Amino acid sequence: MTSPGWSSSCAVSDGAGTTTQGPALGSAFGLAGAPPPSLTPTQSSARDAILRGDRPEHYETIACPCGSAAGDQLLAEVDRHGLSARNMICLGCGLIRLTPRWREQRYRDFYQSEYRALYNRSVLPKRSYAEEVAANPATADRVSWIEREARRNRIGPSPRVVEIGAGAGWNLAHLPSAWSRVGYDVDKEFLDIGRASLGLDLQYGFVDEALADLATADLVLLSHVVEHFSDPGAVLEKIGEHLPPGALLLIEVPGVFRIHRTNLDVRSYLQNAHTFTYCAATLQDLCRRAGLEVLSLDETARAVCRTGAQAQRNGVVRKELPERIIRYLRLCDRGYRRYTRLYGIPGIGRAAAFLWRRYFSAAVGRTSISSLR
Ligand SMILES: [Zn+2]
Repeated sequence: MTSPGWSSSCAVSDGAGTTTQGPALGSAFGLAGAPPPSLTPTQSSARDAILRGDRPEHYETIACPCGSAAGDQLLAEVDRHGLSARNMICLGCGLIRLTPRWREQRYRDFYQSEYRALYNRSVLPKRSYAEEVAANPATADRVSWIEREARRNRIGPSPRVVEIGAGAGWNLAHLPSAWSRVGYDVDKEFLDIGRASLGLDLQYGFVDEALADLATADLVLLSHVVEHFSDPGAVLEKIGEHLPPGALLLIEVPGVFRIHRTNLDVRSYLQNAHTFTYCAATLQDLCRRAGLEVLSLDETARAVCRTGAQAQRNGVVRKELPERIIRYLRLCDRGYRRYTRLYGIPGIGRAAAFLWRRYFSAAVGRTSISSLR
């Protein structure tokens, strides 16, 4: 495993109480023991270029926003692409965070010029990729959730929707045409594709550029963007300050407790681009700290919020949650390794692996999640 020079020198620089032994998820999640990732040639080139350019001054250490003095435990030292990524879990509140992590400017450069090459395994042209995402069942499920929450919270029949981080508009395209829809993104190619092929109102920019639209919105969507923010609390606070009373803010992040329902692959959830990794409880903490009222919440993880609540700055102490998350991740990892072994058996391997994964996922859903609440 290749690693940049900063990793060992930064290993114990997170402050009092940090646990410094090997990764809680096992040696296969350590820099020395991680198996080589399966990357396309484009991904390998992008990863290697990042490693060559990596400098200690690109990094900063981050304390958990809960302010707990309980310390952290190291979960993993390496991400899905073989980059150093120290995911720590706060032993006070259960929030998982990258620390040390890139400074804001390094992340900006990364998203500008390296992110797509590293993260997009698809060899399809961007237009085909956008069509693929639009047709994905997960997109249909997300759209159903948005419509359901709009009805449940008595949003009018023709709401004004603003999506930040809209890509080519694959979510907006499936919402009712009677809804007024505008999306913001910084990928100009995706914006052009969405405008041309879906006829959507897509604008270049992010939260700062969307403030005027936020002020007249009935519903704002942040789908798989909050986990990338360096300071998610400040961003949510800003959005909350600009939203009209009664408007909904819908947030979706890759919830840690949904891994058994998706691909079982814990490693795929570990990304240098994910500054924080949430479950329902820690997503709720984030929203409440930003002065948002959380109306509903699940482990997908999705939160439906409104503005106007008193910001809850006091840290929440959950002694059992960090241990529960670690047990869950170990369980999923063991399951995934069994699945891949079965998959590799010639002949019946694929069918056996598929059936076993269904059984395992159902068993985890019935037992571990509910009993660990
Ligand atoms: Zn914490």
